[in-house]
Amino acid sequence: MIKLPAIALRGMTILPGMIAHFDISREKSLKAVEASMNENQQIYLVTQKDVEIDNPGLDELYQVGIIAEIKQVIKMQNNIVRVLAEGKCRAGIFSFTEKKEYLEAEIEILEDTQEELTQEEKTAMRRSIRESFNQYAKLHGKIAPEAVKQANSYDSVEKLIKYVSNMIPVSYADKQRMLEADSLSERYEVLLAILLREMDVMAVQKEFQEKVKKRIDKNQKDYILREQMSVIREELGETNTQSDADGYLEETEKLDAPEEVKERLKKEIQRFKNINSNSSESTVSRGYIETLLELPWDKTSVDNNDLDHAEEILNEDHYGLEKVKERMLEFLAVRNLTSKGESPIICLVGPPGTGKTSIARSVAKALNKEYVRICLGGVRDEAEIRGHRRTYVGAMPGRIVNGLRTAGVKNPLMLLDEIDKVSSDYKGDTSAALLEVLDSEQNSKFRDHYVELPVDLSEVLFIATANSMQDIPKPLLDRMELIEVTSYMENEKFHIATEHLLPKQLEKNGIKPKQLTISDEAMIKIIRSYTKEAGVRGLERKLGEICRKAAREIYQNKKRKINVTEKNLTKFLGKEKYNQEEKNETDEIGIVRGLAWTSVGGTTLETEVNIMPGKGEVKLTGKMGDVMKESAAAAISCVRSLSDKYNIDKDFFQEHDIHIHIPEGAVPKDGPSAGITMATAVLSAVTETPVKADVAMTGEITLRGRVLPIGGLKEKLLAAKTAGMKTVCIPTKNEKDLDEISSEIKDGLKIVLVDKLEQVLTVALVR
Ligand code: ADP
Repeated sequence: MIKLPAIALRGMTILPGMIAHFDISREKSLKAVEASMNENQQIYLVTQKDVEIDNPGLDELYQVGIIAEIKQVIKMQNNIVRVLAEGKCRAGIFSFTEKKEYLEAEIEILEDTQEELTQEEKTAMRRSIRESFNQYAKLHGKIAPEAVKQANSYDSVEKLIKYVSNMIPVSYADKQRMLEADSLSERYEVLLAILLREMDVMAVQKEFQEKVKKRIDKNQKDYILREQMSVIREELGETNTQSDADGYLEETEKLDAPEEVKERLKKEIQRFKNINSNSSESTVSRGYIETLLELPWDKTSVDNNDLDHAEEILNEDHYGLEKVKERMLEFLAVRNLTSKGESPIICLVGPPGTGKTSIARSVAKALNKEYVRICLGGVRDEAEIRGHRRTYVGAMPGRIVNGLRTAGVKNPLMLLDEIDKVSSDYKGDTSAALLEVLDSEQNSKFRDHYVELPVDLSEVLFIATANSMQDIPKPLLDRMELIEVTSYMENEKFHIATEHLLPKQLEKNGIKPKQLTISDEAMIKIIRSYTKEAGVRGLERKLGEICRKAAREIYQNKKRKINVTEKNLTKFLGKEKYNQEEKNETDEIGIVRGLAWTSVGGTTLETEVNIMPGKGEVKLTGKMGDVMKESAAAAISCVRSLSDKYNIDKDFFQEHDIHIHIPEGAVPKDGPSAGITMATAVLSAVTETPVKADVAMTGEITLRGRVLPIGGLKEKLLAAKTAGMKTVCIPTKNEKDLDEISSEIKDGLKIVLVDKLEQVLTVALVR
């Protein structure tokens, strides 16, 4: 039994071989250290069971403590003393007495129980502790590699256990258990159990940490994504994907469409559900589903096949256009008799503003069909007709499918406006795509790149419009039946204006018919001096202008009635814009009136020729096109071949320069029909014979002086008439066209049919 000064430790246990420091401040403890230092520096350290207690009794201390050697005592601030001590050997406590000022414990050194362990057993113990410690260190992450190395270098299991026990940062309760173990094998078991348990704890802890971290990360990510999604949804005004998909499915069930389409839709909706609603793919998928749902797969409207009704409406909406109306009605009759889709496609050809679009609209109205207009002007990319494949960003269906979608039924009237303005370039052949649209053999299964499913166009009634026949791509031309819409004459324009355009404009501007009248003379003046066109678009605009001015007068100045007369017209429309083209006052040498056809109607072209001494050069001015230049060259050659007949000097053409000019030089002119005009002007200038001022002419010329036919006769005659011409020379081959021209134009015009230049000269030259 030994007696030693003792200290009760709180929250720590010191093991044999372990150097540790602890702080003391209790008076008793300080005295105990003092006493120990005065003796052999040995002190008994025992741990209290409960950290909270100040003066523990014997029961409140563990039974086993340690005898330690004090190595160092340092005085710290605030009356604290730091003691550095090394654990020496285990000792059990029997009693302690409050001797003098400190505690003195009665203790007994505890020897290990002897046991017989084989070398193998020891090695096994050593290995298992070593391995466990290595793993533990790895998991723990804060054990210095040197310590691990050190542990691995021990050969004796006792030393290893001692070392490891001291190294691992575990609770004092665990250390106490180690301290209490009274044999090597027990110590081994306790240590191994602690190591294993710690590793388990650490593994679980790590797992937890990872889970928590993952959850935090995921939560964080989800939160950000959700926020973004809600912002995007807000921007798009969209609702939830799931409910959208359900809505789509419901619509699909109700859709009037072939099974193939429904299957495709269901598949796509399934896909749509599974893709992240934030991705761009989702938007693409949504667009596709909505397009398919909106297309009129099997939805049709009921046509009104009553031809009387159709005729009534066509007559109601349009003045004149007899031929067009008749052809339209015939076409409709045939359509009714034969099965649909078989009838050819109608193409209305004529100058702008002549009512092509509007008559097509009337046909739709007459048949009670939905009307869609597809403007083809400037379409160069095949994809505009046939759509883009969905893989492209911003892909869309083509114009045809879009038109169907707008119409909402599969049998609308589709107007292909300006079909002569489509062009093809490197991006594919637009006319080939159109061909597929128009071909009744193929169009029941039209494939749009975007829709990817065959779309049935066979019930669509196509009507096309074009300004000029020449520009319509040939293969398309073959598929279509042309109906020509010609330009209007003055009296037609007058009727159209008073019966259709003015009432329309009055209504548009909120004026009652009795509030505004336009006198007949004023109307004629508007037509003659404020517009110059084949159709009536400009005229309609002018009438609109008058109506707007009148509306202001009525509203602002409280006028009750406004009369527009020839006199006050300038008040509404400003100064006259066009002067009437008039024939020359006198017969002149080298000036001839030709007739030309432009896209806005007919016009007269004065051709002037000057002859001057020179070297036989020819000069052509007035923005002539290539064809016209060639035609001029032919005209000159032809005149030269007639030299003998007209007594022209042999060397004349070598010694003189010829200059042909067509005024209004800024306007490009082309075409062969000025041939005889130029020839006549050249001959007149060369022979110094005046040309009659009231003779106009048109016709292509050949080298031998033959006159070839021309186009646009009606417009040309009309132009000649308005310019006040008396005689017009036209090619004999155009005679057949004369039948179709109303007598209103022909009356008062002497039309001379010619097939040789000499005939023209006989008529035109003053002899
Ligand atoms: P286009 O398609 O031939 O270029 P539009 O059909 O656009 O010409 O016609 C222009 C305007 O002239 C429309 O308001 C149309 O109603 C009117 N219009 C043209 N011809 C007639 C006509 N014969 N009777 C009544 N209005 C007409």
